[in-house]
Amino acid sequence: MSLPAIRPGNIVTMGEILVDILVVERGIGFRTPLNLRGPFPGGAPAIFISQAARLGHPAGIISCVGDDDFGWMNIERLQRDGVDISAIRIDDDQITASAFVRYREDGDRDFLFNLKRSAAGHTVLDPPAVALLADCGHFHVMGSSLFSFHLIDEVRKAIEIVKANGAMVSFDPNIRKEMLNIAEMRAGLEFMLQYCDIFLPSGPELTIPTEANTEEAAITELLGLGISCIVVKRAAQGASYYDATRTLHVPGYKVTEADPTGAGDCFGATFVACLRQGLPIDECIRLANAAGALAVSRQGGMEGISSFEEMRALIEHSA
Ligand code: ATP
Ligand code: MG
Repeated sequence: MSLPAIRPGNIVTMGEILVDILVVERGIGFRTPLNLRGPFPGGAPAIFISQAARLGHPAGIISCVGDDDFGWMNIERLQRDGVDISAIRIDDDQITASAFVRYREDGDRDFLFNLKRSAAGHTVLDPPAVALLADCGHFHVMGSSLFSFHLIDEVRKAIEIVKANGAMVSFDPNIRKEMLNIAEMRAGLEFMLQYCDIFLPSGPELTIPTEANTEEAAITELLGLGISCIVVKRAAQGASYYDATRTLHVPGYKVTEADPTGAGDCFGATFVACLRQGLPIDECIRLANAAGALAVSRQGGMEGISSFEEMRALIEHSA
């Protein structure tokens, strides 16, 4: 199936806005007193939408924060980046979501989330959210946002609205090992695979939601569900693109990795924004690879977002 026509309008995402609090020392877990750095503005959907706005695309987020410093820090940051904040609800009965993050020696990460019982867990499709969706040309969902049946229901309602308007839907499963134990996540994954036009897994996330044991079989199975294209993110190796007629492998750019958080989100936002500008697929992937590479070269999820000028400079420098 080829990609649906592009509907003019904004890019909208829905899901958690949170603060990241990072453990300074590498290691495993959070069971002893540790040196912490933060709060940093974050949340995969927030990083994604900031990157889309940085590229000059109209962009908005549906979310909920508390009336606290963590919430205001995020709102101010998103507003500064040019994101439409009209559909961020401020709930003074709730505390803004947070994630403690610790890097392991092998580069893997441990997370301790306060999500389900946070303000983000109270995200609803209220009138400002519905108003934002009226102009939506592209709706993006992060798997990390499907952390409760409530959120899955609200995302489902949003998708029904935007699909009826002819918007495209993209889905980044963004699976964290801590989340796979949440029963809701499985249901959310299956539901999103039925509805998305663009699927953006990273490495192993390609086979997790399928019956397949190999990448090739997973691609066939997923395209068979009616997904128009699949872009597999491969960290330093770059990314691969698959649709019914084409396969493209595009190498990544050499950078010194400072912090992997946000690479996938910046990659996804850049791919979607470039596609909506009508750029050829290989160019979309090249720019998205540059966005991901720039993101990993900087500390802090939100700090990793970059402009077209910075992406093009990296591409030229690497030629
Ligand atoms: P995240 O941890 O943000 O969820 P992800 O697992 O979704 O990331 P990755 O494959 O790690 O996705 O990274 C996304 C993209 O960023 C890659 O496809 C690549 O273009 C770029 N990238 C990531 N890591 C590196 C790296 N070490 N060097 C160069 N580019 C990188
Ligand atoms: Mg990811």
